[in-house]
Amino acid sequence: MVLAGQNPASEVYVRNKLKTVEAAGCRAELFRLDAAAALGDALNLVRQLNENDSLDGILVQSPLPDGMGADAEQRVFDTIDPLKDVDGFHPSNVGLLVQKRQTLVACTPLGCIELLEREGIELRGKHAVVIGRSDIVGKPMALLLLHRDATVTVCHSRTVDLPAVARTADILVAAIGRPAFVTRDYVKPGATVIDVGINALTDRADVERYFAEGSRKRAQFAEKGSVLVGDVHPEVEEVAGAMTPVPGGVGPLTIAMVLRNTVTAAELRKDRGRSL
Ligand code: NAP
Repeated sequence: MVLAGQNPASEVYVRNKLKTVEAAGCRAELFRLDAAAALGDALNLVRQLNENDSLDGILVQSPLPDGMGADAEQRVFDTIDPLKDVDGFHPSNVGLLVQKRQTLVACTPLGCIELLEREGIELRGKHAVVIGRSDIVGKPMALLLLHRDATVTVCHSRTVDLPAVARTADILVAAIGRPAFVTRDYVKPGATVIDVGINALTDRADVERYFAEGSRKRAQFAEKGSVLVGDVHPEVEEVAGAMTPVPGGVGPLTIAMVLRNTVTAAELRKDRGRSL
């Protein structure tokens, strides 16, 4: 794992990943780069990790420091050996996913599929609506659903009448990055709702708007001064057939898929040598 700078949220994510990876019996090493490090330092570190035969997977925590430039993440992800790309962000792995040639796939959408499959939720022939078209969540999510024979609609900030489109979904995936954005009127009764969003609320008025008096979230806010809410409003639980919680839903599955991808990466390197 590579962590550049001192972003507090990244520190928490990396600490959680390290703990989980070690608890599963894998060896994890953290490589730190100073907040003032140049893009070249990050690229050199990644090249060294590519060559280090004792490592099966490389994770670079985003965001990278602003000083590395606007295209730093893309440059760094492009430099990771595709066979060690346990985040599934390398363009070679994305291309293989498009062609349904299973490979190292982005962990969050992979975790969503794992949740759906383990819950026995039928995907074939169902209408799946994905809100969000990012490279790391929305797009790979849409492809994974398509490959399981769902009929897929991808929505974004320019979609006209989003609630009406969302209401046609049997499976609704929200990956937007806006707290409690998906309200009851976006959801067909009985639909399965996957909430990918993780948003920290630090404002009392917001917490009181989304969570009922006497709720666990309000008590948590009183104690800690912040609570997490997804992209889906808590009221949706009343209409959805099934809905993932935040926290404790997609997040832990994402980390589990990092582990799975690491095992896959180790096997791929063993089987196919160093070329894809
Ligand atoms: P992102 O790159 O910011 O993409 C957000 C997407 O939402 C964009 O496609 C954007 O549309 C769309 N959007 C924004 N506002 C909208 C609106 N008003 N109506 C319709 N669509 C709108 O975010 P991301 O990286 O995909 O992450 C999404 C959320 O998932 C965030 O809350 C993030 O923290 C969370 N996340 C969670 C995990 C996990 O492990 N659980 C992992 C990754 C991300 P445009 O393309 O038109 O701008």
